Amino acid sequence: MPRVIPLIDQRLASLAGRALPHGPSAPTGHLLDGRGRPLRDLRISVIDRCNFRCSYCMPKEKFGKDYRYLPHQALLTFEEISRLARLFAAHGTRKLRLTGGEPLLRKDLEVLVAQLAAIRSADGLPLDLTLTTNGSLLARKAATLRDAGLHRVTVSLDALDDAVFRRMNDVDFPVADVLHGIEVAQAVGLGPVKVNMVVKRGVNDHEIVAMARHFRGTGVVLRFIEYMDVGSSNGWRMADVVPSREVLARLSAHWTLEPLDASTPGETAQRWAYADGGGEIGLISSVTQAFCGDCNRARLSTEGQLFLCLFANRGHDLRSLLRGGASDETLSRAIAAVWSGRQDHYSEQRGAAGAEIQPEDRIEMSYIGG
Ligand code: SAM
Ligand code: SF4
Ligand code: SF4
Repeated sequence: MPRVIPLIDQRLASLAGRALPHGPSAPTGHLLDGRGRPLRDLRISVIDRCNFRCSYCMPKEKFGKDYRYLPHQALLTFEEISRLARLFAAHGTRKLRLTGGEPLLRKDLEVLVAQLAAIRSADGLPLDLTLTTNGSLLARKAATLRDAGLHRVTVSLDALDDAVFRRMNDVDFPVADVLHGIEVAQAVGLGPVKVNMVVKRGVNDHEIVAMARHFRGTGVVLRFIEYMDVGSSNGWRMADVVPSREVLARLSAHWTLEPLDASTPGETAQRWAYADGGGEIGLISSVTQAFCGDCNRARLSTEGQLFLCLFANRGHDLRSLLRGGASDETLSRAIAAVWSGRQDHYSEQRGAAGAEIQPEDRIEMSYIGG
């Protein structure tokens, strides 16, 4: 379990606010961290369980039948999540992404989606509401989620070849069901669907071109993600990473690609368009090209710990505040105090150190949700 920084001593709960660090108080919609970065994007992990065992994320050896997941009462309730999301929005958050574990395993998720869809940004606009899923339950749930107010989905899919895909999810799940989920999501209006492919050398890099060919011209935006050294379960090695420039070179042997401008500041993917009008792809170079400079993302774990970096080993305990009876003002001040003190830029530091630094006890991707 990751270490947790208490924001307030539980015993002082009735004196909510007294133990909080100083920080800006009333939300202005323009909260900045210690490096001048706004808090635009909140990723909310709604469950720590998953029905897949992707080796780069929840390898079976670590996440076997004896693994202890969070008990139900530890999970933030939908009301707790929406309350926090509303406070984040007042500080400038414009985008919410539901993730996990596998978010579609959380019962009645559409109830949460409806609550989040009702939140407005500091400018009075609806938030961009998205979800990242492994796609296994998507065909069944897409219409309900859309009706509840979800805007878009991102589906993780690492291979088209059924044998390779079954091996990578390690639960023998067929690729056809995920592809069907993507089609249903597009058909009900949860597009443009993005597909995330984590590329691992010698495991699925031979699928890069096939994936591109499959999704070209369909409106789906395929994004290639460098395999990252998140968590401490996956035995990450630099040798397993296929750098984005290599992915680009392999694609360029088949198609002409032209760079596109980022659609929003802080966007993780570098966008490229097929010159023949076949749509676009994205390259997420989390390992070889640090994008900490405009990183505007915070992460709320399943049990209400606020993490400021994917590679953090400490979260800030918002659940204790919530359950200790803190007022909105106290919670808002806590969020502001944590974000305004943020200095994280792990990928840049790792880049400077030549991929050699690895903080201990890093949180697992399945806990924090990516
Ligand atoms: N279960 C959902 C899914 O797979 O989309 C949501 C949670 S998953 C942790 C979120 C994203 O993190 C997925 O796109 C997954 O491929 C990515 N991911 C997990 N471990 C990773 C790693 N070591 N390197 C790069 N991406 C990773
Ligand atoms: Fe599950 Fe997603 Fe992690 Fe795969 S990447 S094990 S689907 S949480
Ligand atoms: Fe943001 Fe941390 Fe990733 Fe840098 S390493 S881009 S600060 S999450």
